[in-house]
Amino acid sequence: MAADRRDRREPAVRRTVFNEDHEAFRETIRAFIEAEVVPVYDEWFAAGQAPRDFYYKLGELGVFGINVPEEFGGAGLDTHKFEAVLYEETSRAGVNFGGSGVHVLLALPYIKMLADDEQKKRFLPKFVSGEEMWALAMTEPGTGSDVAGMKTTAKLSEDGTHYVLNGSKTFITGGVHADRVIVCARTSAPGEQDRRFGISLFAVDTKSEGYSIGRKLDKLGLRTSDTAELAFVDVKVPVEDLLGEENKGFYYLGANLPSERWGIAFGAYAQAKAAIRFAQQYVTERTVFGKPVAHFQNTKFELAACQAEVDAAEAVADRALEALDAGELTAAEAASAKLFCTEVAHRVIDKCLQLHGGYGYMNEYPIARLYADNRVNRIYGGTSEVMKSIIAKSMGL
Ligand SMILES: Cc1cc2nc3c(=O)[nH]c(=O)nc-3n(C[C@H](O)[C@H](O)[C@H](O)COP(=O)(O)OP(=O)(O)OC[C@H]3O[C@@H](n4cnc5c(N)ncnc54)[C@H](O)[C@@H]3O)c2cc1C
Repeated sequence: MAADRRDRREPAVRRTVFNEDHEAFRETIRAFIEAEVVPVYDEWFAAGQAPRDFYYKLGELGVFGINVPEEFGGAGLDTHKFEAVLYEETSRAGVNFGGSGVHVLLALPYIKMLADDEQKKRFLPKFVSGEEMWALAMTEPGTGSDVAGMKTTAKLSEDGTHYVLNGSKTFITGGVHADRVIVCARTSAPGEQDRRFGISLFAVDTKSEGYSIGRKLDKLGLRTSDTAELAFVDVKVPVEDLLGEENKGFYYLGANLPSERWGIAFGAYAQAKAAIRFAQQYVTERTVFGKPVAHFQNTKFELAACQAEVDAAEAVADRALEALDAGELTAAEAASAKLFCTEVAHRVIDKCLQLHGGYGYMNEYPIARLYADNRVNRIYGGTSEVMKSIIAKSMGL
């Protein structure tokens, strides 16, 4: 791996999360990004999505199968540390892997937790190879934060062979390319005492009749990920594609949202760390009033303050990673990590962009893309306000 003086800082906090296997993986990923992503990233950016073929390359590289049991073609591990390395390396290079993040971070936990043996045999080998890309559809035009308020319905047919799905979803990452989407839909009316009752999860084949993809949404950031509207008109979903038990969907979402929130927290921390790297390079090269921008005390102080914030975010993100791997990450701790790391990233990336002057506002500079990409971290996977509600509830408030 090429030495780079920006990577040679003595860590303020000794990191213990990664071992030599993770570091070897880091080298592979860094080389892959250099060869396969950096040269074509501008094209993806202009096209508004990564090409479908790229996901087969990720499948070949093995990144989709890390946490999939060996009998289904995976590596049989049970850890999020390799995913963490991916976040660090994509951010470091100022790129991302299109909409494929949701395939592993959002969809896989549900397949592992809920699919029966027959479903696992049917779904997982194609999941690992990238032949079938997955997405998760909770959000609807009328409801996002209030998941229990969803209106999409799935009604069991009279002969009991299939459900009939009707409704619509929006903001679905990976929605253009997805071959299977985990769709959350109401199978029963909300319970009188518990309005979260009555939601079920389905692994819907996107080639089904009545399933349609609406607009590919034009976003502020994350330009290479395809985010779409979806519509369902009398889509027949075989009963074999129900995930887990009927009406328990909300509780399944509750069980898996902490891992999604950890992923967003860790990704945000990694983006903030990368922003410092980009700014450090820029301020040493850019000359103003005959001196490098790095010469000003303001520059040193701003970057030092950013570094202190990123050190703290790294410790929080790492601790949440260890807790997640140990199966101990609580909803409140995940919410706390997401709130903290995404708010740190927001502040740090903004300051690092400021140090670039006008160039920081130009999309050809990675800091500009990072600024736009990072903004959504405080919104999706649950907004910062929703994270505060979860934390407050855990405090008995
Ligand atoms: C780029 C992108 C990708 C996405 N990908 C996916 C995906 O793959 N799958 C998916 O299902 N969804 C996805 N989403 C949806 C995302 O999770 C929602 O946008 C998010 O949960 C917020 O819901 P909303 O947009 O409906 O906002 P709303 O719920 O309408 O919120 C509006 C405002 O009200 C505030 N608010 C809401 N509730 C409370 C409360 N109780 N107290 C105080 N304030 C509150 C919010 O914080 C926010 O400021 C994506 C969104 C984006 C932008």
